[in-house]
Amino acid sequence: MRALLDLVLPLECGGCGLPGAGWCAACARELAGHPVALRPRVDPGVPCWALGAHSGARRNAVIAMKERRRRDLADPLGTALAEALAWLREVGHLDPDQFAPLVLIPAPTRARAARRRGGDPVTAMARVAARRLPGCSVVPALRLSAGARDSVGLSPQARRANVDGRVSVRVPGATIGPGANVVVVDDVVTTGATLTESVRTLCRAGVPVSGAIVIVAAR
Ligand SMILES: [Zn+2]
Repeated sequence: MRALLDLVLPLECGGCGLPGAGWCAACARELAGHPVALRPRVDPGVPCWALGAHSGARRNAVIAMKERRRRDLADPLGTALAEALAWLREVGHLDPDQFAPLVLIPAPTRARAARRRGGDPVTAMARVAARRLPGCSVVPALRLSAGARDSVGLSPQARRANVDGRVSVRVPGATIGPGANVVVVDDVVTTGATLTESVRTLCRAGVPVSGAIVIVAAR
């Protein structure tokens, strides 16, 4: 039984590598705290936040979720995301109407990369957050066309060109409902190119976006 569990449950912390549990208390403390406002180089034109800088437990967890199929990390990251969103609503940073339904739209990912990772980790994380927030839902409304490359190692200009015109809406804007607070969610922001293209595409489809939030801001 133990051997079977070892196969299923990761026995080291996804934030710091401490053996024993998938996520340790110290990393949970590191994830807590208010989100920070961001100003990406490519400006999406809506308020943007990150749970924190691209370092420590946050950074390690995002990498482990993406590259080592640590799907279990959607749980602590989604929980931290929910806490950040609840705080942003409470203080009125996110929108003037804190009682409107909140809709989380995952930033699009390349379909092939998502399949290799066993599903899109950003969507998984958003779903965890939505379960913890009253009146919140996840609508995976955006798609990235097959022509886009993995953006790792690309210059800021190349990143922008990589997603320019390649984000499309796969869920009609009408299904999101009028008056909803729409927030685009991603794991990492580097230049802001993907967030910008996502916000632009949603606006063109008649879906106004209130803001964007990511787990880590890379430099
Ligand atoms: Zn840890």
